[in-house]
Amino acid sequence: MTQLERQQWDVVVVGAGGAGLRAAIEARERGARTAVICKSLFGKAHTVMAEGGIAASMGNVNSGDNWQVHFRDTMRGGKFLNQWRMAELHAREAPDRVWELETWGALFDRTPDGRISQRNFGGHEYPRLAHVGDRTGLELIRTLQQKIVALQQEDFRESGDYEARLKVFQECTVTRVLKDADDRVAGTFCYERESGRFFVLEAPAVVLATGGIGKSFKVTSNSWEYTGDGHALALLAGAPLLNMEFVQFHPTGMVWPPSVKGILVTESVRGDGGVLRNSEGKRFMFDYVPDVFKEKYAQSEEEGDRWYEDPDSNRRPPELLPRDEVARAINSEVKAGRGSPHGGVFLDVSTRMPAETIRRRLPSMYHQFKELADVDITAEAMEVGPTCHYVMGGVAVDSDTAATRTVPGLYAAGEVAGGMHGSNRLGGNSLSDLLVFGRRAGLHAARYAIGFGAGAARPRPDTAQVDAAAAEALRPFGAQGPEPGATDTRPPENPYTLHQELQQTMNDLVGIIRRAPEMERALEKLADLRVRALRAGVGGHRQFNPGWHLALDLRNMLLVSECVARAALERTESRGGHTREDCPSMERAWRRANLLCQLTDPSGAMAPADPTQGQISLVRETTEPIRPDLLGLFEKEELVKYLTEEELLS
Ligand code: FAD
Repeated sequence: MTQLERQQWDVVVVGAGGAGLRAAIEARERGARTAVICKSLFGKAHTVMAEGGIAASMGNVNSGDNWQVHFRDTMRGGKFLNQWRMAELHAREAPDRVWELETWGALFDRTPDGRISQRNFGGHEYPRLAHVGDRTGLELIRTLQQKIVALQQEDFRESGDYEARLKVFQECTVTRVLKDADDRVAGTFCYERESGRFFVLEAPAVVLATGGIGKSFKVTSNSWEYTGDGHALALLAGAPLLNMEFVQFHPTGMVWPPSVKGILVTESVRGDGGVLRNSEGKRFMFDYVPDVFKEKYAQSEEEGDRWYEDPDSNRRPPELLPRDEVARAINSEVKAGRGSPHGGVFLDVSTRMPAETIRRRLPSMYHQFKELADVDITAEAMEVGPTCHYVMGGVAVDSDTAATRTVPGLYAAGEVAGGMHGSNRLGGNSLSDLLVFGRRAGLHAARYAIGFGAGAARPRPDTAQVDAAAAEALRPFGAQGPEPGATDTRPPENPYTLHQELQQTMNDLVGIIRRAPEMERALEKLADLRVRALRAGVGGHRQFNPGWHLALDLRNMLLVSECVARAALERTESRGGHTREDCPSMERAWRRANLLCQLTDPSGAMAPADPTQGQISLVRETTEPIRPDLLGLFEKEELVKYLTEEELLS
């Protein structure tokens, strides 16, 4: 039996981005002793990188806005595949979550009359994004951290211990959710990145808030933490993932120089007036407005430009279409030979705003291009192209409680959870999602955990699971090439090489435009990588050893990549972030289909009996009908574009 430190908590929150911190605050405020664990430094999460803003229909800049309009925009953006109850809760509760942040000390940009300012973003009918320049995520994280410190100070005053009821474990990675003999959540298996020390956090409730999966793709706006850990932890614990085929390729990432390819160029650039042009100088987006959006978007440059000054009498420019549409359009222009010198298109603010306004409204973009590409965006256009940015698919959860469907005590919120955004997320809807569902996850996890009391009824981790988790984590040190007399004389695999091959595979074969034969090839390549990953070996010891950490992360990236490839092959239509060249239209019959990914071997064993076989099986389920009062928010003519006959008649 593995001897290691065990600590008892009520709720363990895995992840300290916006979702994790909001969940932790709520759980602690509801009386649960709460541990937050994050593999990066406290404060270093994707949330801190968010630039554009938080979508919430406060109506500060246009009083026509309200939760119903936000709900409609979100459903349209997701092409009606959204878990509609989540979209409803999100639209209703987002304004309260933003105002709450302000009461906790957040300083948003203001309107001239002193209200929280809101900016335009793709797919949002009204200016809706509360922001702080283009550094909104930083302010969000700063505020939530400040709130955590305030709660810890409160605890110190009462108990003499800052960490009595809320403790942060930073630079610690969770590799397994542990369960008890009754298959209920009982805690997490963790290691400290610096020392390599193993420990267990015991708790009846675990909230996954680990963010996304972008590091499985070569060109991505995501940073090193996004290895799909929470998605994999859920799968391995027995909780299915929903609609993993939907990966968002943001239309505007940097394309040059190669070392920074994929870094995000915020959508605020277009929201504030930036335009896209091809190598012929043409504003090509006017050629790419799909039928479902034709009535809402300007047909001429003049009308599009007038909209910035007078949005009530003009239609918005097509540069502000949802991200999936813009990304596909850029891809088509480059493919047609009308791209920029480094394989993107031009995004120009320099001819649209005075230099001083650009530096004030887009300070990070100004510095990013100046320092990384030696481009002055106040004087010349940027070169941009699609980059893997966000995953709409994720852990299947109950809309109201954020509880997983099959594992008692397991919750998920933020980017790791699926359903809210359907097939495509609107910009700004992630930060609001984190706050709305982070709060809900913390609330319900606390209620569930406190229900056990402190006594013997609490689930305790199964010892065999702890031992297996320790052995699994140590495996890369044992893969040091052949033992004397061993028959397998192959050298161990280098985790970095495997990671590069995985990223290239996903980029080339399951990327922005997909075809069946390529996805089949991807699945074959993933099977090969899976076999080789079992021999991923590292030297040295457990003290800060990034090769070892990557070897462990590979398990997660391979699992989620297989989910994406399998679901993308299965869905024979194009919808939102999922574009099939061989099935180009959106099929009404698919609107009601959810694809659930689950482990083929429910034991969650690390080394499947036959690793050449896939680890993931798909289950198709029919979505719940949309509530009639919510359907009533749309015109019948619009619904006809998305819903099946029987749905319309029911
Ligand atoms: P994160 O903020 O990424 O936090 C994940 C946490 O999980 C981290 O603390 C990480 O260390 C931890 N973690 C992961 N795995 C483990 C593990 N195994 N063990 C322990 N800890 C683990 N959205 C908007 O709405 N508006 C914007 O303007 C916007 N701009 C963006 C700009 C950029 C450059 C990027 C990359 C994204 C942007 N997004 C934006 C998207 C949004 O920022 C993310 O979707 C969101 O921040 C995700 O938050 P989260 O709390 O789910 O995860």
